[in-house]
Amino acid sequence: MTPLKAQITRQVTATGPLSIAEYMALCLLHPEHGYYITRDPLGAKGDFTTAPEISQMFGELIGLALAQAWMDQGAPTPFALVELGPGRGTLMADLLRATRDVSGFHASAHLHLIEASPTLRDAQANLLSDVTHHDGPETLPDLPLFAVANEFFDALPIRQFIRDGDQWRERMVGLTDGDLAFGLSAPLPLAALDHRLGDTSQGDMVNLCTPAAAVVGTLGARIAERGGAALIIDYGDWRTSGDTFQAVRDHAKADPLGAPGMADLTAHVDFENLARAAAPASHTDATAQGVFLERLGITPRAQALAKRLSGATLNEHVAAHRRLTHPDEMGTLFKVMALYPHGAEPPPGLDPKKADS
Ligand code: SAH
Repeated sequence: MTPLKAQITRQVTATGPLSIAEYMALCLLHPEHGYYITRDPLGAKGDFTTAPEISQMFGELIGLALAQAWMDQGAPTPFALVELGPGRGTLMADLLRATRDVSGFHASAHLHLIEASPTLRDAQANLLSDVTHHDGPETLPDLPLFAVANEFFDALPIRQFIRDGDQWRERMVGLTDGDLAFGLSAPLPLAALDHRLGDTSQGDMVNLCTPAAAVVGTLGARIAERGGAALIIDYGDWRTSGDTFQAVRDHAKADPLGAPGMADLTAHVDFENLARAAAPASHTDATAQGVFLERLGITPRAQALAKRLSGATLNEHVAAHRRLTHPDEMGTLFKVMALYPHGAEPPPGLDPKKADS
């Protein structure tokens, strides 16, 4: 049994079942045993890999999209260049290299990173110079804000609910025969899920991510007031349904209750909830990652890079391009949504918002 599992078992025995959000927060960010607190989870030796770790092209194109949005808004100076959950800092390093020749962009940018993990903060500070770290978006400077978040929102704690009549039962983590097990609360009405009464039926499961709504609310208010844009990239959909709470350990799916603190826990991102929380900022549709990257020119960029490669490195590069864009890989499952000020040009490559959203 992991030390955290022993602690959670004692806590449930003493005070009763935990919500999925409480369980997830302990597993990921417990000050001593939390998954992100104790390790660098990324890469071949870690538990999972992400788009910026697959290819430099990802951060480069994100960088050019943000620089385009910055120019479209009159190149405000100074501005905050923000990343939420930067991991090893790879995306930001690629973004900065790709935007080196955008006149005034680097000179105007102040780098602010939102990161909970001391281990990853160190990695970011080693790779990037002049960074300011934050626990959350509330302490960001009062400047126009150009931000990116890749696989950040999927790590924020969700609550799960199962429809029962016109009410909801919350999925909880309790104990069965002394071991952690899922259970359900009594039915309760929940105003935050009123908009899901129309598209769900008895027994359907939906997620609610209150921390994500709070983060996006702060970003949206800042972008609406001071200008800027945020690119949010994650797996999920405009509206998510079903059980997407999952654990990944050593590049394979695992039991989310099996080894608290030792596996990454995530859930699909509900972009509709983010868009609602971002008001008064405007938003694009959640656009398929493959479509977004193709529109930004990933294929000509891949061809240009390929000219310098041969043998195994060329094969890896071709595989990376496919992995980022192909519908059977990350191309469709991952979506990109931008927040931007009403009346401004949306960042490039994204579908306009749906008529009813
Ligand atoms: N964006 C990176 C890393 C994704 S992993 C990449 O694409 O490779 C998730 C990142 O979010 C990690 O850096 C993790 O430490 C950070 N993170 C997770 N929960 C967080 C929270 N509540 N507050 C701040 N950072 C968090």
